[in-house]
Amino acid sequence: MTHGTSRDRSRHRRILTRACSVLLLVFVPLLFAACPKNQKPPRQPRVGVSSDATPPKPLPPIPTGFNGERAMDHARKQIEFGPRPPGSPELEKTRRYIVDQLNSYGLKVTVDEFTAKTPHGDKKMANITAELSGETKTTILVGSHYDTKFYKDMQFVGANDPAASVGTLIEIGRVLGSLRDKPKVTVKLVFFDGEEAFCENWSDCGNPDNPDNTYGSRHYVAQLKAKKEIEDTYALILLDMIGYKKLELGRDSASSRWLQDLIWETGRELGHGKVFVDREEGIGGDDHEPFLRAGIDAVDIIQLNSYPHWHKADDTIDKISAQSMKIVGDTVLASLLKLQDRITKDTDEKNRSNPR
Ligand SMILES: [Zn+2]
Repeated sequence: MTHGTSRDRSRHRRILTRACSVLLLVFVPLLFAACPKNQKPPRQPRVGVSSDATPPKPLPPIPTGFNGERAMDHARKQIEFGPRPPGSPELEKTRRYIVDQLNSYGLKVTVDEFTAKTPHGDKKMANITAELSGETKTTILVGSHYDTKFYKDMQFVGANDPAASVGTLIEIGRVLGSLRDKPKVTVKLVFFDGEEAFCENWSDCGNPDNPDNTYGSRHYVAQLKAKKEIEDTYALILLDMIGYKKLELGRDSASSRWLQDLIWETGRELGHGKVFVDREEGIGGDDHEPFLRAGIDAVDIIQLNSYPHWHKADDTIDKISAQSMKIVGDTVLASLLKLQDRITKDTDEKNRSNPR
């Protein structure tokens, strides 16, 4: 075997360049037509240690850059802070952690503080928003609550409710922050305070005008109204309890069907047909409802009825997995791209039917 001539080498280089272009054409659309800046190859999922788990099959690499292990690290960090009910020093620490992470990704972060009247008196709460501004003001929201439910006599650390969805949302923030080019639409990640009821059950206290739950999301929608931003808000994708090792997501009947279809189809296209199933998921209420009432399409991605550790002391880290968070993170990121295409098409059609 001989070394190639310089002509051979330049031919090889051309072939390589062409192969790279093809790869970019295939993978880049998943990232809002932009390349991630410092994307490291994802680490392999750690093997679960809990007897609760059937051993997870390794996932095929999906080119969104979402790293399940990073999401898991964020979940672990929150759990280490301890129970995190609204107004607690532990939730303040959690908030600072979330804000620091989002800032480090170069996103525009705002903390909106407000006081909520609760059955436990006035409570200081704060929603966190991280913005990746796009070419238009049309906005897609991706949200999760970050408070844990208050229990007087129970050490409730909420691994799946909500540390896993918060960890997933932070990691989605890292992926979005790594995009080199502006997306066409604006994406905001919203971390809601005060989703959980202070009283034992969702509707034990409060009244229809002033319910004892969803404090942060109701405040967020009121702010959208006050700032006249309802029109620009295209949709909300809500994550809540998406980290269970035996992940299976049914369909919440209150969610906007077209949006749910889009996400469920995307999940199945990515090979997660066993996760995105068609059975109905009755949930009784969540942070997407104030948005739906305001006329904003919204979907809740949630596993409630088949999560046996819901609101129990054993909602602990051994119940959640990096792989489940990656399944949801990848599906949400790929769905954001489809939503962006849909919005662009809508806008083009509107412009065609109303030429200036
Ligand atoms: Zn809960």
